[in-house]
Amino acid sequence: MSRRCAIATTPLATVLATVLATVLGTVVTLGVAGPAHATHDFRYPSPDGGGGNAPLGGRTIVIDPGHQLGNHNFPRQIDRMVPAGGFRKPCNTTGTATNGGYPEATFTWQVARLLRARLVRLGARVLMTRHSNREDRWGPCVNVRGRDGNKQKADLKISIHGDGSFAAGARGFHVIAPTDRRPWTHDIFRPSRRLALDTRTALRRVGLRVANYIAGGDGLDHRSDLGTINLSNMPTVMVELGNMRNPSDAHRMTSRAGRATYARGLALAVRRFLG
Ligand code: ZN
Repeated sequence: MSRRCAIATTPLATVLATVLATVLGTVVTLGVAGPAHATHDFRYPSPDGGGGNAPLGGRTIVIDPGHQLGNHNFPRQIDRMVPAGGFRKPCNTTGTATNGGYPEATFTWQVARLLRARLVRLGARVLMTRHSNREDRWGPCVNVRGRDGNKQKADLKISIHGDGSFAAGARGFHVIAPTDRRPWTHDIFRPSRRLALDTRTALRRVGLRVANYIAGGDGLDHRSDLGTINLSNMPTVMVELGNMRNPSDAHRMTSRAGRATYARGLALAVRRFLG
């Protein structure tokens, strides 16, 4: 709970962070870069991505940090039924938390920001489906998250979540890809499957283990009930990066170094997929 994003609320902190980011940028240019997680809270001046030689130059990537911190304060809004791809379901849910009370919304937000920083450094343009992590905000709904990036013809979308299974010993990550369901996901299920495989490979490469409690045991799941995936027109996966109710996963998810590992894995997944 003490790890709330430092620059999200006050303009003064934002200014300080920007100054720090500028200084750090200079240091990095001089080749004296610190550890990867040192850039955790810095806002990048240009979200539009870099030019020709950057590995992800010209690419547009959508990051969907699951839930919103204040969802539980707005039950009427988040229970409202919205289109989800041939059926309707509630706008959003509250998400889960660790047994110690660290909320999923904060976890997904913090990993998303680390991932965004990495992708921007690689030259990508990054779109976020939400822009705050606050108790006085809710949403957006899954239909909005699902359509985000369609108009911009984004190259891919990663929806970031943490799971909340109470099964004894349940731990590890899994990657959810769409099934083939006309007309909703028929156009994206093949590349999304490839993105899911690349994501699994990349997360393993940074030392993470696949979930031991998902049917199949291979760290992959296929679902047709998720509006975020069904309404996307680009290759899309949802990642449950760990089980927040498992003490060992929770330990990683609540630590700065652990979140940096998740972000590193997801950035690697993007690079693998976009070649
Ligand atoms: Zn979630």
